[in-house]
Amino acid sequence: MFAIVDCNSFYASCERIFRPDLINVPIVVLSNNDGCVIALTSEAKKHGIKRGAAYFEIKELVRLKNITVFSSNYALYHSISERIMAILAEYTTNIEVYSIDEAWLDMNGLSDRYALACQIRKSILDWVKMPVSIGIAPTKTLAKVANKIGKNKPSGVCELCPKEYTDYILSNFDIADIWGIGRQLSKKLNIHGIYTAKQLSEASDRWVRKLYNVGLERTVRELRGEPCIDFETAPTPKTIIVSRMFGKKLYNQSEIGEALAKYCGHAATKLRKNHLVAKNMTIFIQATEGYGKNGNNYSCRYNFDNGTDSTIFLSQMAHRMLEQIFRPTKKYLRAGIMLDQLTFKDQTQYNLFNIAETPKQDKLMAVIDKINNKFGNDKIGLLSAGINREWKMKQEHLSPGVKGRVKLYH
Ligand SMILES: [Mg+2]
Repeated sequence: MFAIVDCNSFYASCERIFRPDLINVPIVVLSNNDGCVIALTSEAKKHGIKRGAAYFEIKELVRLKNITVFSSNYALYHSISERIMAILAEYTTNIEVYSIDEAWLDMNGLSDRYALACQIRKSILDWVKMPVSIGIAPTKTLAKVANKIGKNKPSGVCELCPKEYTDYILSNFDIADIWGIGRQLSKKLNIHGIYTAKQLSEASDRWVRKLYNVGLERTVRELRGEPCIDFETAPTPKTIIVSRMFGKKLYNQSEIGEALAKYCGHAATKLRKNHLVAKNMTIFIQATEGYGKNGNNYSCRYNFDNGTDSTIFLSQMAHRMLEQIFRPTKKYLRAGIMLDQLTFKDQTQYNLFNIAETPKQDKLMAVIDKINNKFGNDKIGLLSAGINREWKMKQEHLSPGVKGRVKLYH
């Protein structure tokens, strides 16, 4: 049995933690440079705002309806996410952190799963003030369905059990909302008269394989309750986060730069392992005290038009971004990077400017991966990631198994 814990309107809810006056008030969170809406609460959705809407287009509506607007603060969101994952780790040892606001829990062998999920939900709400929904089911795809149902229940929890109840839910569940299906594919399936999850679960394996692909076949089998996606072979991560506390407070830009370069190396290795490229990188640093409107957390985001998995590109950019947010005379406790908008490398198109560079980088990165695989991590890397690494944490104050924060727990 799997459970998926998913934070409700995560970015907006993070902002609410520090602004309890905004409970039930519509909130939108904007992307870097306040370009477009990347997160919104259900109250904001009721005013017709959609994720991805350009800010200038909804400005008037925001004013008329008294919608509260926030610029995104990734350092804060990351920190809240870590606290939530730590709470989950108290309940079960087998956790897969799937994205900044989602995690899978292994529920096998647990008797009263529904009550446990309610308890977990309450703990996260009490301790971090974050509303979450939890879906429980025998497969990951069904757990995602349960999660969607749970979002609209006062308890926030839904378990797909017994079978009659699962059938009832699936009969009323739009295929467009199934994990991994999306709008394009659902339109295609509609043409064949398949509108609900129940109808899709009844499609024959052969027909699905012939007309579509093994990915969809897996989804169909999962809808029937046959687990095909386990903890390791989960669909690709949506976000990669590498972050650590420093071993001591740092005030030197070059040392923080070294740490970031090293984190870039870890994240890029993870990208290449999964045959992914990242289109977005955010770096964040945490100072001992605040020096601006963002408290003591500072972040900067960059968009790689075509996506990259190169340690070199990522590190170079991280250095440039650090330049923008670093202030001398301050001391820093932590730094991190987050990669998102991950796509498969073979589906990426290169533009004229990097078409010559990319194959060279690919070869170099392949050699680096090979050496590090054979002789251990970080045997070979960029000089910009430092040699002495005095900033490195001397002791792990975190739960066991927290290594580099690429994945939290196994
Ligand atoms: Mg969420």
